[in-house]
Amino acid sequence: MQGAVLYGPRDVRFEEREFPKIMKPTDAVIRISSACVCGSDLWPYRGIAEITQPTPMGHEYCGIVEEVGKAVKSVKQGQFVIGSFFASDNTCPTCQIGYQSSCQHRELVGGAQAPFLRVPLADGTLVATSEIPSEALIPSLLALSDVMGTGWFAADAANVKPGSTVAVVGDGAVGLLGVLSAKKMGAERIIAMSRHPSRQKLAREFGATDIVSERGEEGIARIKELTKGIGADSVLECVGTQQSMTQAINCTRPGGYIGYVGVPHGVSLDGEQLFFSHVHLHGGPAPVRRYLPELIKLVLNDKVNPGKVFDLTLPLEQVAEGYRAMDERRAIKALLRPAEQPD
Ligand SMILES: [Zn+2]
Repeated sequence: MQGAVLYGPRDVRFEEREFPKIMKPTDAVIRISSACVCGSDLWPYRGIAEITQPTPMGHEYCGIVEEVGKAVKSVKQGQFVIGSFFASDNTCPTCQIGYQSSCQHRELVGGAQAPFLRVPLADGTLVATSEIPSEALIPSLLALSDVMGTGWFAADAANVKPGSTVAVVGDGAVGLLGVLSAKKMGAERIIAMSRHPSRQKLAREFGATDIVSERGEEGIARIKELTKGIGADSVLECVGTQQSMTQAINCTRPGGYIGYVGVPHGVSLDGEQLFFSHVHLHGGPAPVRRYLPELIKLVLNDKVNPGKVFDLTLPLEQVAEGYRAMDERRAIKALLRPAEQPD
């Protein structure tokens, strides 16, 4: 089979890769229905996060179970399943309190930009739908694998409640789905920080009530102006840079909450500034597995449509163009469709 492999900065190749096999009795192999390019894939793509060897790419996936290992009990061949970027056993003490992305046995899932994928710890990681979903629902179900699960965690970690005032830093796919999540959780006011008209439009569709296009000091001043001079109850930090984190802290009211889900690159926090800011900080890799059953239900009942973030659909073999389009911000998020595979 052929899949995406990153060789170095801006060098994604679609090339022959080994067909995934069951390596442990707890594994499953799935046939990918659709995969996509993640904002976090752009860190190594841009050379900001270094890679030391050619790396199979992709960690967002949904598809049909092709084969399971001997020890797998809860998922079966032929089921449609969604999993997350961290495989988890879903039974250890950390999983039981809802932090499956810090599972004591967690394993990174990689190489999903391909027609087939090996998923470790299949019982704990994969969630099956009761029926095979229609084609039209695939983008939204795929979004749950990471981008929507992460936006949802950002809103949850930022303590969004009915009536909350929320600010969202970052207008990438996660930020936009953070807006949708905050809306679904009952936020009354949602301020999206964005300077791109197409992203502003989608933010409004997802429930943003205000758009702030300024950044830095001006952006902070605008948020304060919109929030009685104190800042937002909840701020979702969906970028991971020093500027976005500083923005988030300064836009939060004393006693307010920040949910930060942008993978930090070169971010350092000043202890004294943090001390006097009086904010709650909670973030990290989203425990998507915790939210999957609930989010799948929301999608299947047509309560949310997170698949709208995919504004570019490409055949899998054009994966390199997906990276380019996202890198150049021509696309919010690229969906990749593998060609039909012979049985
Ligand atoms: Zn665990």
